[in-house]
Amino acid sequence: MSEPAEIQPRSGTAFRLECGQVLRVIDIEGCQVSDLLAFSADDPREAISNGRTFDYEETIRLGEGCTLWSNRSNSMLTIIEDQVGVHDFLLTPCSKATFRHFYPDQPVHRGCFGNLAEALAPFGIEQDDIPCAFNVFMNVVVDGAGRLRVEPPVSKAGEYIRLRAEMNLIIGLTACSAYASNGGSFKPIHFLVED
Ligand SMILES: [Zn+2]
Repeated sequence: MSEPAEIQPRSGTAFRLECGQVLRVIDIEGCQVSDLLAFSADDPREAISNGRTFDYEETIRLGEGCTLWSNRSNSMLTIIEDQVGVHDFLLTPCSKATFRHFYPDQPVHRGCFGNLAEALAPFGIEQDDIPCAFNVFMNVVVDGAGRLRVEPPVSKAGEYIRLRAEMNLIIGLTACSAYASNGGSFKPIHFLVED
């Protein structure tokens, strides 16, 4: 197994993940979110879908044993190991607009959305094609009234999740840029593709 690659704080990357390969996403320092997108390498109009996933998995609490589904109702990724168990698939990638909305006193950052758009452009994926990401390690609490609250991730340094590709994929992956999502500080994310 090769050495993990590093995604610098507040940045992102994109790469191919072939059917059967396993992607390990590692929260190397702890308390850091990583937005994950998946598109079919054969036809990138097929993309990861939170709605399809909630429907078929019958839960919004996705963890070990769960499948992440596409907009065409095909399985894209299976979570085969999960050391954290708290992830979000409700909220969209942070962006310039979300920074203006939630952090009007802070400098605007292009966020995960801008980082994903730039990383995915060489694969022919445009920013309007970007769906809701699977937000690895993101801790979104839903209260009894249905209100949402973003809490710091519970992931500890070195903890990881492993996802197996069920088709040939293009993956987008970030180290998230939003203050609340990451407990107020920005850390790198490590990842590894296992054959
Ligand atoms: Zn983000």
